[in-house]
Amino acid sequence: MEYRKLGRTGMTVSAVSLGCEHLQGKDYETVKTVIDAALDAGINFFDVFMSEPNVRSNIGKALKGRREKVIIQGHIGSCWVDGQYKVSRDINECVAAFEDLLDRLQTDYIDVGFLHFVDKENDWDTLEKSEVMQYALSLKEKGVIKAIGLSSHDPVTAKKAVDSGYIDVLMFSLNPAYDLVPKDRDMTEIFTEVIKGEKQDFSALTLEPARAALYRDCEDRGVAITVMKTLAMGTLLDAKRSPLGIALTEGQCISYALSRPAVAAVMVGMQRLSDVENAVKYWELSERERDHSEALASLGMFSSDGRCMYCNHCLPCPAKIDIAAVNKYLDLVELDKKPADSVSQHYTALGNTAETCLACGACETRCPFHVPVIKRMQRAAETFGK
Ligand code: SF4
Ligand code: SF4
Repeated sequence: MEYRKLGRTGMTVSAVSLGCEHLQGKDYETVKTVIDAALDAGINFFDVFMSEPNVRSNIGKALKGRREKVIIQGHIGSCWVDGQYKVSRDINECVAAFEDLLDRLQTDYIDVGFLHFVDKENDWDTLEKSEVMQYALSLKEKGVIKAIGLSSHDPVTAKKAVDSGYIDVLMFSLNPAYDLVPKDRDMTEIFTEVIKGEKQDFSALTLEPARAALYRDCEDRGVAITVMKTLAMGTLLDAKRSPLGIALTEGQCISYALSRPAVAAVMVGMQRLSDVENAVKYWELSERERDHSEALASLGMFSSDGRCMYCNHCLPCPAKIDIAAVNKYLDLVELDKKPADSVSQHYTALGNTAETCLACGACETRCPFHVPVIKRMQRAAETFGK
């Protein structure tokens, strides 16, 4: 298992972690089996967004006596009202649901308290000034939560929330299909067309700028991303159902998500023992089996683009430059228009910076996305100096 920093929270989490959603509806023995296997495999990070009482109680019972072994994402605004799940911004419903979570998990703290399912800018605008936000802040002040998170599927809303400074961790839907959908197309529309068998024009796809900007912004601010929808509900594993028109493997999807800036963990939905075993098999795959870059490059969508995917498949570098990181910092300045001064501290911390590039070209022969690395190293050296 690989462990990663959960951004500026100071916590350390397993890079492949447990999304508990599918434990809903399962009996206690099944829940305990999955949790036991996850802990045995080194998974120390759980997402518990569900408001349904039984699954919360079963998880709490299964964790009894070992609460401190896990870092929990718990959600504020995921409520159980009239026997149904409800996304709520009503302060009374939110407080009742969060206290219920603490009670049923048999704990007096939740590591990251997530503002739940914020997908619209106006929802965030209202939420930011609401009693629910004040409640989250008061929980953090009292130490009942240690960090504030936000879950979202929308990059513009998520970026606005991240830029507010309140959000320490972002749970976001991230996979190659979502990232490569053009800005002016609705992703649901594209999935619907694919299901109907309508062909997509892959040559028109490129890295969606709002998403790319969100990931870099998170990295710049020390906001960790935890990933949901890694496999796009399994559609990416099937060429017929995938908007990309090719079948990726689970390992390639996980590898893609873990290679995005700021990503700390992928939350994999697990509902039976074999799901846990399957998820942790990721660490037994060879580099070649995990490699997503060749599959994506085969679509041809980046060939004229030359945009860095921050995958570091171009390493090793004789000057020991972290090429992906240098490219990320250069993009923050060139694409996101961040002042070079605000980024140069991160750049300098790399140690081996672009000035030491030998212009040997070894990286360019390995890069599947035809990135002109030597020129970019020159531009980074000019932009940041040292
Ligand atoms: S230059 Fe190419 S191989 Fe290197 S990190 Fe960027 S996309 Fe990956
Ligand atoms: S060209 Fe520069 S960055 Fe690329 S491998 Fe050679 S020294 Fe490293």
